[in-house]
Amino acid sequence: MSDAYLRSWAEISLGRVVRNFHSIRDAAGRGVEVACVVKSEAYGHGAIEVSRALEGGGARWLAVSNIREGVALREAGIRSRILIMAECLPFDKEALTGHGLTPVVHSLADLAELDAYARSRGAVLPYHLKVDSGMGRLGVAGGAAEILPVVHQARSMRLEGLMTHFASATDFSSSQTEDQLRNFTSLVSELREAGLDPERIHLSSSGPVAYGQGASGGNMVRAGLALYGYVSRARGDAPPLAVNVEPALAWKARILVVKDVPAGAPIGYGALYRVPKPMKIAVIAAGYADGIPHQLSNRGAVIAAGQRVPILGAVSMDVTTVDVSGAPESRPGDAVMLLGREGLVSIDAQEIAALTGAIPYSVLCGIHPRVKRVYTE
Ligand SMILES: *Cc1c(COP(=O)(O)O)cnc(C)c1O
Repeated sequence: MSDAYLRSWAEISLGRVVRNFHSIRDAAGRGVEVACVVKSEAYGHGAIEVSRALEGGGARWLAVSNIREGVALREAGIRSRILIMAECLPFDKEALTGHGLTPVVHSLADLAELDAYARSRGAVLPYHLKVDSGMGRLGVAGGAAEILPVVHQARSMRLEGLMTHFASATDFSSSQTEDQLRNFTSLVSELREAGLDPERIHLSSSGPVAYGQGASGGNMVRAGLALYGYVSRARGDAPPLAVNVEPALAWKARILVVKDVPAGAPIGYGALYRVPKPMKIAVIAAGYADGIPHQLSNRGAVIAAGQRVPILGAVSMDVTTVDVSGAPESRPGDAVMLLGREGLVSIDAQEIAALTGAIPYSVLCGIHPRVKRVYTE
């Protein structure tokens, strides 16, 4: 079937993703490696296309959530190093070694088991050890005394990286980041004193890099959200932004129908909206099944003919109704923009997140696979 007439699609500028990557790389600092986080289909942008573009733009490290995502990239011909960030045992160890994927190890028991496997294969497998420095999620929680013997014993595993993840990286009113930093830094120095000096130390995700904290003392960062052009809103007294990134994705949908409705007409499920005065409405070809949050019912807006126009009534599964009285030239077949910029008018994932009590990550990841991704320079 041809793509000539799409109902709803996302236009992704790969050039923009690469420019965002370069801005992050500059902000991360000299000698700092940027691992480009392309998990969850590159936050809805398409993992394979984005990874190819990033590789072409000089990326040497990619990071995904699980082995399946890593294998998909290898099968598409991606050659960069690939870090698997959130897989725990039992993992598919054959896929790990067979595809040259680099695991993040979250427990000393997992390390011992991977070591036994690597030894049985006569291989030496590089890994990154994740430390829970106070986020309370994944990672080894023990101190140097517990970590050292297991790392030393795992002779078929090579400790290439030591990492941690911040829970409140863009909340400058909280001391959690400082606490985590202190815990992690003291562990790193204890390990160094004991002769363990991994090549890569990484703490920062997009947030710290974007707000000028660079690699937070490490020599690698793991950036996702900023690659796609977003920076989480800061709390408290935030330092100025150190990156210049812009959204890479514009999401569009066709107008199916335009019609004039009289005062008093109900709109959509539950008559959540009643037309107060004669109005021109348009029904557009995208709904919550495409990823428009249902919470945007009677609240959100889209861009039609360069104007912001409000969503009327309930967002339905496949269609959404908008008031195009302010954009009367709208015609069936025209595209409206759910996310993106037209002239001076823009709607981004941050705004939708703020309206719906969500975060920009979940808005981007929520764009359903049935919304065709179309790539542009
Ligand atoms: C997803 C993820 C990142 C990327 O975070 P962003 O805020 O998108 O930059 C970094 N590190 C880990 C461990 C992650 O899971």
